[in-house]
Amino acid sequence: MSDCLFCAIVAGDIPADIVHRDDDAVAFRDIDPQAPVHILVIPTSHHANATELAAADPAAAGGLLALAGSIAESEGIADSGYRIVTNTGEGAGQSVHHVHFHLLGGRDLQWPPG
Ligand code: 5GP
Ligand code: ZN
Repeated sequence: MSDCLFCAIVAGDIPADIVHRDDDAVAFRDIDPQAPVHILVIPTSHHANATELAAADPAAAGGLLALAGSIAESEGIADSGYRIVTNTGEGAGQSVHHVHFHLLGGRDLQWPPG
């Protein structure tokens, strides 16, 4: 999608600190990290949110969750614990309308979230 920030990161038009890239997904460090590890895991194809992705391509949605788990392993937060979050809609804090899973860890995480 032409005016989408994360499509521009997928295309390489906007730089990012990329930790994983394949044909289906890109993972990169959040520009404003909320934890010592804060990585965004996104599909290379544009979908507005996780529900739309799951409806259009359930295998891709599952693949992103599996990828987030494997990045948690490689980032060393799998044993201490981590959170995978996807905000949907502006009232929930979604600011970029290209589906992304936040992978957060490396510190104690409060529950419930704010
Ligand atoms: P949301 O608020 O939609 O759940 O999450 C969007 C995330 O994208 C935020 O955590 C924000 O810090 C991050 N973000 C926004 N612009 C950029 C950018 O240009 N580069 C990177 N790496 N992260 C960004
Ligand atoms: Zn996009």
